[in-house]
Amino acid sequence: MVDHETRRAELAANLQRVRERITRACEAAGRPAESVTLTAVTKTYPASDVLLLAGLGVTDVGENRDQDASGKAAAVRAAGVRLRWHFVGQLQRNKAKSVSAYADVVESVDSLRLVEALARAAVAGRDEPLEVLVQVSLDGAPDRGGVSGDDLWRVSDAAASSDGLRLGGLMAVAPLGWEPDRAFERLAELAGQLVKAHPGATTVSAGMSGDLEAAVRHGATHVRIGTSLLGMRNSLR
Ligand SMILES: *Cc1c(COP(=O)(O)O)cnc(C)c1O
Repeated sequence: MVDHETRRAELAANLQRVRERITRACEAAGRPAESVTLTAVTKTYPASDVLLLAGLGVTDVGENRDQDASGKAAAVRAAGVRLRWHFVGQLQRNKAKSVSAYADVVESVDSLRLVEALARAAVAGRDEPLEVLVQVSLDGAPDRGGVSGDDLWRVSDAAASSDGLRLGGLMAVAPLGWEPDRAFERLAELAGQLVKAHPGATTVSAGMSGDLEAAVRHGATHVRIGTSLLGMRNSLR
């Protein structure tokens, strides 16, 4: 176990480096640094790390498994700390109710059935609409989640017209073996099309530890950073 102060110092140094990378990428792209929100992906790390990051000024956190996230969100709330929780993992419909109870944003919406399940859960259990991003599969391979082709517009339109939901925009992960620039350029085209149909859907969640610069270059509004902030995860998720 690393002691609390050592961990705080480590996270503070990592956070500063990540913020500098975002600032430099924004400068290079001619964008204001405030135009990119950092989401700290805290999956596999404990609630104590989430609280340390919150103390260092992080406002948004991402999780990819309901089993872990629900308890962490409850622990953070019990500590009196309010954050924006982003759910970024593949989501089974039977978890929609649980996730809608603590998430502010679900970034991994990729089917009509999931839209329906989240809308039902949000109408029944929330005071405010649940923000959803539609996850795009840029290479059309469904294995890592995401929709492509006409399904992207079908799922987006359904989310935009569902009571209980608010369509925020798009999310993507650069496909394995693709140049990040190629991936995020394609995502930017799709985001441009989406916003014509749904003017409020301006969020583009793209970029992780290895490719945040390319994402910012192509207009990402949110970057999702795990490893560069918290360290290497033991597992591959
Ligand atoms: C784990 C994860 C991230 C963070 O990835 P790092 O490479 O650790 O920065 C971002 N987005 C999603 C969807 C993830 O599952």
